[in-house]
Order: sequence, then C-alpha cells, then structure tokens
Amino acid sequence: MVDKQIRETINEWVGAANRVAVLTHTNPDGDAIGSSLALALALNKMGVETNVVIPDGLPDFLRWLPGIERSTTFKYKQEKAIKIIEGADLIFCLDFNDPERLNGMQTYLFQSEAKKVLIDHHEDPVDFADITISETWRGSVGEMIYLLLEEIFQENILDKDIATCLYVAIMTDTGNFNYASSYPEIFHIVGDLMHYDIEKDRIYSNVYDAFSEDRIRLQGYCMLEKMVVLPQYHTAYISLTDKELRKFNHRKGDTEGFVNLPFSVKGIKFTALFVEKKDRIKVSLRSRGNFPVNRIATEHYHGGGHVNAAGGDSFRSMEETLSLFESLLPHYADLLSNT
Ligand code: 5GP
Ligand code: MN
Repeated sequence: MVDKQIRETINEWVGAANRVAVLTHTNPDGDAIGSSLALALALNKMGVETNVVIPDGLPDFLRWLPGIERSTTFKYKQEKAIKIIEGADLIFCLDFNDPERLNGMQTYLFQSEAKKVLIDHHEDPVDFADITISETWRGSVGEMIYLLLEEIFQENILDKDIATCLYVAIMTDTGNFNYASSYPEIFHIVGDLMHYDIEKDRIYSNVYDAFSEDRIRLQGYCMLEKMVVLPQYHTAYISLTDKELRKFNHRKGDTEGFVNLPFSVKGIKFTALFVEKKDRIKVSLRSRGNFPVNRIATEHYHGGGHVNAAGGDSFRSMEETLSLFESLLPHYADLLSNT
C-alpha cells in the first residue's frame, strides 16, 4: 500500500503528462518486461502516450507479450530510444535499484527534466528519482504495478492483456512460485488476475516451453559435463565458455534458468553460473533459505541483487574465476551448513 500523498502525486503527474517513458534494466527478464508493458498498456488506455525503452536484448520467450510493439531497444534503435526519453515529461523506472543498470541509457535519464518515479524491489535503491517506491519484500515489481494500477489509477483499468503481462512478471520473478512468494497477498493478486481470463497454462508454456533444440542440448551438456557439485559446501556451479556456447549455436537467453538446475540435487543450497562474455564473465548466483547471495555478488563480483538471486561480473579468466569461487566457499561454510 503506497502512502496516500505519494499516490496523489503520481496520479497528478500522470494526469499532467503528455508523454511517459518506462525504463527498465539491462538484460531484461520477465518482471522487467512484464511490469513495464503492463504499465505502458494501462497508461495508454488512459490516453497518456507511453513507451517502454529497454537497454538491450529482449529474450525470445517474451516477444509474444501484449504491448511488445510499444517497446524500443536502446542498443538497436538508439535514436528512437533517446527521442522517447527526451520527449517524456514523466519517466517510470522499473525493477532496478541503480541507474548503472540502464547500461548507458542513464545519461539520457539524468539529462531529462522529466519527473522520475522509481518502482523497485531490490535492496538499497540509489536516490536518483523524485519518488522512490521500494518494497524489497515483494517477489516482483509486477505486484507493485498491480497495486499501483489498483490504488492510484483506480478501477476498470485492468484487462486481459495487462493482467497477462503482470502474471508473467510475477510468475517469472518467483520461478513459477518457487521462491520469493510465501505470503498471502501475492496469491490474492494472482487470484484477481485470473478474473481477467488470463490463460495461465498457455502463459507458462509460452515462457518455459519455448526453447530451441540447441538450447535443450546445451542444458544436457551442462548437466553431464559442466556441473560441479561440492556437497561439503552444499554448493554446485556451472561454467560455460564462449567456445562451448558457439558449439551449441547459442542465442541470447539460452542460459537463462541454468543456474537453478543444480537445486534438484538433494542438499544443494547455493548455485552459481559463470558465462563467458566478450569482456567479462557474467556471474549468476542463487540460494535457497537465507544464504545471502547478494552479499557474495557485492563483495566479490561488483554486483548485487536479492538474498536468493543476485549477479555480477568477474574480469578474470574463467579458470581464475572458478578457482577463486571455490576458494571463497570455506569462508561461508558455517553459513551454508546452517541455512
Ligand atoms: P541474473 O543472475 O538473472 O542475471 O540476475 C539475478 C538478479 O541479480 C537480478 O534480478 C538483479 O537483481 C541482480 N543482478 C544481476 N547482475 C547484476 C549486476 O551486475 N549488478 C547488480 N547490482 N545486480 C545484478
Ligand atoms: Mn524483478
């Protein structure tokens, strides 16, 4: 529940806005895209021209979402993206706590004199917006947009398309209600979304059963050849070099979700995925229970995130990165045993 005065101010700003931009984070996930499209669809429905700008690659499994034509990718259509940001008199920033996560777009955000509203669920948001709504206990920004639409813009704005986007946001950021969702309100929200005739099973299938044959074979390769299990630390990790990715005709988004696979091994509480990029190694970290992977991401990988899902980068070789990772584990052995 957002403070009454904040609600009124946002409502006022939306009422006064000619053009709105919705920005979300680099390497956008289901929550980033689902929340942004839901907000854009709702505002457009209210007669306020609203566009979504994402820093880079939209994953294929989200391309079917309603309202996707309202999104522009900064990396590929820079001129258009900048125009949208510069032309906006109100900017919503969704699902990130630090403008650095805009991957270059932040220059235009800072230059803009538009009112800025940050809506996020990551810890310690940077103070850059005029209004910050930060609810770190929520599983997704999707819930926050649902409440915003309900509390601020009032009844009758939701429809099947908006509800579908919100459901994708909530479903993906909780790993299909696997984590970050153990509180009643999330199911009340989902229950309400069902009233708009969303096709829950088809949505699941669109998002999770949309892989290429290459991707599934890459997954098999990871499980067979690349997963390292360290039972004494309740930890397992997977690493993939660029060469390996190319062998499986890797496409953007193909390694999404791999980090969760080792949890199926009994006793695993901490997982990591290391993926070689051009100039760095992308590190994804996940945990079960209260082992704080955001602490690991901040302390060792220039990153951040949530208690159970975080990420960052390593600028060492893959070999060094992996041996360094293994050398960290003894320091967290107690914490890993007791969570
Ligand atoms: P993923 O492993 O899926 O890329 O990221 C999981 C979560 O970790 C994201 O939702 C985000 O909160 C956080 N995260 C990932 N990479 C970074 C990063 O480089 N910096 C920060 N601050 N957070 C990150
Ligand atoms: Mn999120």
